[in-house]
Amino acid sequence: NTFAEIDLGEALNLNIRRCKYVKPTPVQRHAIPISLTGRDLMACAQTGSGKTAAFCFPIISGIMKMQDQSVQRPLRGARTVYPLALILSPTRELSMQIHEEAKKFSYQTGVKAVVAYGGAPIHQQVLYYYFLDLQLTPHGSPVILSLLLVSRDLALPSFQFYVFDQKSLVVLSVKVLNTALRELERGVDILVATPGRLVDLLERARVSLQMIKYLALDEADRMLDMGFEPQIRKIVEQMDMPPPGLRQTMLFSATFPKEIQRLASDFLASYIFLAV
Ligand code: AMP
Repeated sequence: NTFAEIDLGEALNLNIRRCKYVKPTPVQRHAIPISLTGRDLMACAQTGSGKTAAFCFPIISGIMKMQDQSVQRPLRGARTVYPLALILSPTRELSMQIHEEAKKFSYQTGVKAVVAYGGAPIHQQVLYYYFLDLQLTPHGSPVILSLLLVSRDLALPSFQFYVFDQKSLVVLSVKVLNTALRELERGVDILVATPGRLVDLLERARVSLQMIKYLALDEADRMLDMGFEPQIRKIVEQMDMPPPGLRQTMLFSATFPKEIQRLASDFLASYIFLAV
């Protein structure tokens, strides 16, 4: 009846207390214990039901256990990361919300969550800027003649350089910098992504799904409505490479039409169906 009674690992239980979550919501009360047993799950849950925590908590808890067992991941190349959990969601906004929740509850657990979504405008990425050339008018106010913008794509170990000279924005180069690589040295444990952006990262070999232990599909009906089924299938296919049987899958959807049932029977192994 309370989170204190569910053993999710000391650090995560502490974060749950810090965030003042006391009682699990109905979907959490049922989904979390099922996920902790390792079973696949298909849950009908609406926005606002607390479904984000329902899949984030078992994932964070499971990765903490994997850390204790020091599960070995392939040595990273300069560019490829090997996440242990993948959360797919239909939109940038939802991905950002899930990432915020995952980050909040991963605090001091050693679990690292990263978000990757498509079409991020520059101002939503981390931006550094340097004035290259300033001139003072006769009245003493500064006029920017040129500006160097350095944009850090949060999901990628790269920086992009832009030079702004009054009217035009010119992309100078995309460069991998050592500082960014150092930051990613510990790797990414939980990747939150939109399907289109993830396919792009896979094609560019920036992400490998070889080590995925947890897959969560959030708002699966909305992802299908948006036409993401081919991308989702392409993504899941990559996880079916050896070693087999590694993956635990959680599918969340507000509705349960035929297309979702088909997805569930294709992606889930002897799953438990939960409707709250
Ligand atoms: P969600 O349906 O995952 O978008 O969650 C809806 C809102 O409920 C979010 O703002 C959560 O932070 C909050 N929430 C989720 N679970 C709990 C809980 N067990 N106790 C209190 N608030 C919660």
